This record gives sequence, structure tokens and C-alpha cells, in this order.
Amino acid sequence: MASSRREFVWQSLAAAGTVLVPPGCEAGRQAADAPGAFEPGYLRLEQQGELAQREEALWQRLGECDICARGCGANRLAGETGVCSTPARIKVYSAGPHFGEERELVGRGGSGTVFFSNCNLLCSFCQNWEINHRGDGQHTSLGELADMMLGLQRRGCHNINLVTPSHVVPQIVRAVRIAAGRGLRLPLVFNTGSYDNIEVIKLLDGIVDIYLPDFKYQDGELAAKYSSGAADYPEVAAAVIAEMHRQVGILETDDRGIATRGLIIRHLVMPHNIAGTDRFVKWVADELGPEVYVNLMAQYRPEYKAFDMAEISRRLTREEWRRAVEWAAAAGLANLHT
Ligand code: SF4
Repeated sequence: MASSRREFVWQSLAAAGTVLVPPGCEAGRQAADAPGAFEPGYLRLEQQGELAQREEALWQRLGECDICARGCGANRLAGETGVCSTPARIKVYSAGPHFGEERELVGRGGSGTVFFSNCNLLCSFCQNWEINHRGDGQHTSLGELADMMLGLQRRGCHNINLVTPSHVVPQIVRAVRIAAGRGLRLPLVFNTGSYDNIEVIKLLDGIVDIYLPDFKYQDGELAAKYSSGAADYPEVAAAVIAEMHRQVGILETDDRGIATRGLIIRHLVMPHNIAGTDRFVKWVADELGPEVYVNLMAQYRPEYKAFDMAEISRRLTREEWRRAVEWAAAAGLANLHT
């Protein structure tokens, strides 16, 4: 990747303040209007009246929140918060074109990233801890969120990349409905840590075009240690990624090589094989098939509380990375990106 998310965020802040979507950009409008242009699934569901029903079903879950796998039971509609520290009213940190994502998401116009504040997984080594743990960002109405999506389209972005969306799914669907009514036509990318409620993911069937899940750990004890007690993370993530694969399948691209639909799994290799890379690559090959797009990432670096945990207070060694790539090759992954 050309630059990390954190670098992107800070460059964005330095350049233009917190929210970065200026009005008007002909390139994006032309792309969306081009003959044979992509038509997203959410548009068909909206026309059928199905999207409104999905939104309603999702919104009801906020009353006793089980929107993600934490299942806190907080009444977010009444202002209560759970692990994600987010009531029904959401915060957004920034929105803008990002050029550090996978090539198929970036193209020439960039991936239209929206960074949501707070998080439901809360990893000790979080690269964006100011946003995800501390909750930096601004309260944003759902009309404003829709405006951000439309602004990214006008700027020529190829997709709406929803970063850390797991705790704000009902709000996202509402904003997509508003934006679709005003001309949004870009595919949605659900860029998640994968600690999701599978029932919620099922409600996104046909709404999300591209799933971009992390698969962070294969061991529950390690998941609990490094991600705020999420001991069932390996089983939860395996189930939700399998459901995502069922919905969208192998990654599809258009004639420019831009992703239009499908699954990209990210796996961050960690020191001492804490991420269980050998088991992860075998799981992908055995359960989903070797042709699934896997991005094996070498850029782990200690951040946030990782400096206080000796075993994750350093970067990968060359040997650790070499072994990870060997495991992936031995598993037979045929669509491996590093
Ligand atoms: S989204 Fe998840 S973490 Fe947040 S309150 Fe709901 S169940 Fe808890």
C-alpha cells in the first residue's frame, strides 16, 4: 500500500480540516453517468421497497443493541452506550479519497473513505486509536453523511468505503437511502474488523457490493487479550466472512480493473504469529476456496497500548514475514496480494 490509513488521516487533517468533501466535481458526475455505468444493489432494493424494511429491522435492534457481536443490550435510541461508546447519534472523523487501499478499490479516482468514530473491537495495537478508542470526530446527521457520500461521488471516487462500520449499520443504511434518492450510484465497501452480528450481515445482503473484512486472530485467548475480551472473535469472524462470501463471491472488476462486487479479506501478520497466519491461510483455502482475494499485510507496527506489551512492541522480522508468505503459498492461495 502506498500509505497507511493513519498517514492518510493526518494528511487529510493537515490539508483541509476534519471533513473533506467539497461540493461539486465533474469527473465523479461523469463517471456515475457513463453509459453502462455500474448499478448498485441498494438501488434495486430501494425501488422494491425492501431497503426501507431492512432499515427498519436494523433500527429496531438499537433499542436493545445487538448490532455487533458484543451484544451489549444498550438502549442506544435512549442515548445509552455500550462497548462502542456510540448512542444512536453518530460521529464521523473524516471523508475523502484514499489512495492507500487495494489497487482494485483505488483506480484513478481513489476509494471514497468515510472514517466513523469509535469502534466495537478496540484492539490494543490500534493504528487509529485517536479515532477508534478516543472517539475523535464530529457529530454528524444522517443527511450530512449522505452529503459526504454524494461529495465523494462528485470527486470521482470509485466506491464509498465505510471504515469501521460495525456499530453504525442502521445509520449507514438510512444515509444510503437518502443519498440514493439524490443520485448515489457507487458501490458500497464494508470495511470491517469482522466482529459483526451475522444476523446484521444477513440484512446487508444485496445492499453491500464489496466486503472488506479483516480476519485478525485464530485463537480466542489471544483475541481476548488484544481486543478487549473478544474471546469468540475467531468463530464470529469465520462465520461472518463465510456469509459475506456467500453473498458476493469472488471479487469482480470492470474493464478498468475497478472492483464492482466481491470479497477481499485482509490479514495483518503479527509478531510471534499472534494472528495465527498459518491457520488463517488454511481456513481460507479449505472453507472458501483458493481463488478468494487475500491481502496479506506486513505493515504491523506497535501503536497505542502495544508499547506496553513486550511481545507486540516491535515490527515483524524478515523471517516472520517470509514464513507467512510460505504458509500462504503452501495453502495454495491463488489470489494472494502482499
Ligand atoms: S454496536 Fe456493538 S458494541 Fe455498540 S452498543 Fe451495540 S452491541 Fe454494543
